[in-house]
Amino acid sequence: MPTPGRIRLADALGTLPFLNPRELKVLQAAAFETVEDVLMRVPRRYEDRRSTKPIATLVNGETVSLMVHVYSAGWRFSYKRYFEVSAGAEGDPYGARIYLRWFNMPYVAKLLAMGMNLSVYGKVKEYAGKLTITNPDFEIMEDEDAGHRLVAAAMGGIPVSLPDMPDTDLIHTARIVPIYRGISGMSARSFRALVWRLLQELPADTPQPGYDVAPAYPFREALQDIHFPASPEVSHKARMRFALAECFRQQFTVAWKRRRTQGRVGQITAAGDGYLQELLESLPFSLTPAQQRCVAEIRQDMEKPQQMNRLLQGDVGSGKTLVALCAMLLAVESGKTAAMIAPTQILAEQHYNNFRRLLKDMDVRLSLRTSDRADDSDIIPEVGYGDASPRIIVGTHALLYKKNRPVNLGLAVIDEQHKFGVAQREKFINCGDNPDVLVMTATPIPRTLTLTLYGDLDVSVIDELPANRGEIITALRTPAQMKKIISFMRTELEAGRQIYIVSPLIDESETRQQASAIKELEKWRAVFPDVNIGLLHGRLSAEEKDAVMGDFRAAHTKILVATTVVEVGVDVPNATIMMINDADSFGLSQLHQLRGRIGRGQYKSYCILLSTAKPGEPGREKLEVLCSTLNGFEIAEEDFRLRGPGDVLGTAQSGLGTVRFAEWLSDMRLIHRANRDATAILDADPELRLPEHAPLRALIEHEEEQGIVG
Ligand code: ADP
Ligand code: MG
Repeated sequence: MPTPGRIRLADALGTLPFLNPRELKVLQAAAFETVEDVLMRVPRRYEDRRSTKPIATLVNGETVSLMVHVYSAGWRFSYKRYFEVSAGAEGDPYGARIYLRWFNMPYVAKLLAMGMNLSVYGKVKEYAGKLTITNPDFEIMEDEDAGHRLVAAAMGGIPVSLPDMPDTDLIHTARIVPIYRGISGMSARSFRALVWRLLQELPADTPQPGYDVAPAYPFREALQDIHFPASPEVSHKARMRFALAECFRQQFTVAWKRRRTQGRVGQITAAGDGYLQELLESLPFSLTPAQQRCVAEIRQDMEKPQQMNRLLQGDVGSGKTLVALCAMLLAVESGKTAAMIAPTQILAEQHYNNFRRLLKDMDVRLSLRTSDRADDSDIIPEVGYGDASPRIIVGTHALLYKKNRPVNLGLAVIDEQHKFGVAQREKFINCGDNPDVLVMTATPIPRTLTLTLYGDLDVSVIDELPANRGEIITALRTPAQMKKIISFMRTELEAGRQIYIVSPLIDESETRQQASAIKELEKWRAVFPDVNIGLLHGRLSAEEKDAVMGDFRAAHTKILVATTVVEVGVDVPNATIMMINDADSFGLSQLHQLRGRIGRGQYKSYCILLSTAKPGEPGREKLEVLCSTLNGFEIAEEDFRLRGPGDVLGTAQSGLGTVRFAEWLSDMRLIHRANRDATAILDADPELRLPEHAPLRALIEHEEEQGIVG
């Protein structure tokens, strides 16, 4: 029998007297160590089994809760042996009957006997005119206390030991029943019964482990409400409480980190703006007001002797690179080296060439330093990378490694930061001389998530696109319409424009990717025999990629057949068509990125999404979203809704791996509240010295050990 108050959250499962060794092993194999681990496994969903139905109203195929009386019970045999109970309403021996059948569950025969009252849940099926339920969930109603004794009678006088029946409450039927993610080796029923038992034995005043964010709603009560809610409203309330606790933990860590980095000693990396003015005067256009504002915000940070930690956000094509270049020129003028790190070789070279063009009449040194492999074994010989004199260096993540790290580094710019991991970013931020850090991201992130992921950074947003941009038309087409598409392509080619044709990576194997890319190339060569067509895929070496991009940029090739290598950052303003094969197999944000490759000049551009997905099919919805808006922030929000942040950003690097509750994303208020609470605590007690903040100190220490904070 349960003994309330006997166990603690931190108790190891092995110390529980009522857990059998087999279940213990299964649970440990599934990484459950303590009582808390089990109780923090929250239900994936619930089944409302509250309303019971009279048998006479049942129809074939419906899933129901029933309260029934057992009129007879015994073994039957058809093609297989099974145990059958014939049941009906209590006190109505001649009324409608339901037949409950259990296959392969001999223990059921030991539990059930004539005269018992049962609560039953399952799906009704009609066989040969009989209403049946196969392997229903059931519980013996204990208030009919004759039940126990009758069992002995039914087993022919041989006493059978009944398992420890919890108490009169129903766990699996006639209530809102929790459904958990499956654990291999353990039935849903056993796990549910275990949770119930643990809750029974947990003292009523069990406090929340760590810091309690909502003391007004006792933790123990919330646990009960989330596992065995009395109503859907109650389970929602409990879920919110747990979600808040989780958001708080995350926001607190971020707020702590922010305080630690914010005041951190750094370098003054901006003084004069001679170079900056020179650049701006040489441009054929002027900065957009949003770009100007961002440059000013960045400059203010750089003028201070603290380290800058700033995120520059902006939709595709909003002109982030130029803002970064402005910052880098400020750094160089102040006597420091500035480095820009791009996620791919292609991008690094593009930036380098772009800067070389922009800075050609200026007295600023510029170097390129890249490697197309993560092991940085084959660093391409740098262009002028010898001494410590201030310069701009463009490179790939090879620059992050110690032996390549630029000397005299004053400013580090990380382009397309979402392609790097948090750890890589931190590596930079924490490197020896505390350079100013500017990270740029092109997957626009909804505000809530910015706070969550980048709460430790200051944020500048470029919220407008340069004027004079050509319109972008997005169209959904099927391969059956290819003839028309081709004739349209020809028109654009004749007008001097260029075309991207992108296919998804259908195969992980690089060799097969290459094969299918080459096949695609041959197909288009047959369609446009008179046109130069380039091919870009992941198998090419850095030099080859560079040559292919160079040819396309210089319009030597008019069509570029490519895999998603062109996804980020590539800038060829003369290209006006982006055709995407099997568009539905891409993620929304990725499609938006691809579309961002066109409409970068003054020409009207066309994004053609090829897909066979029909209206209502899963892949179709996102394509319709894409057709309906050009706004990257809206698209990102939709993408997060459809796929969840882990999939959009990659769990490992997003730091979202531990988030169990989905609600936090949909409920901005939760995050804001958590953020406010965290800030208030740190304002009042910056070093966490107060005794009530001891759990928070422990949290930080724990995370510091894990290398998450610091
Ligand atoms: P992203 O923000 O996607 O990285 P880029 O920095 O590559 O965008 O800029 C996209 C294009 O817009 C580039 O060709 C760049 O030269 C151009 N550009 C940047 N700022 C302006 C501006 N203020 N007016 C006109 N064109 C601009
Ligand atoms: Mg860019």
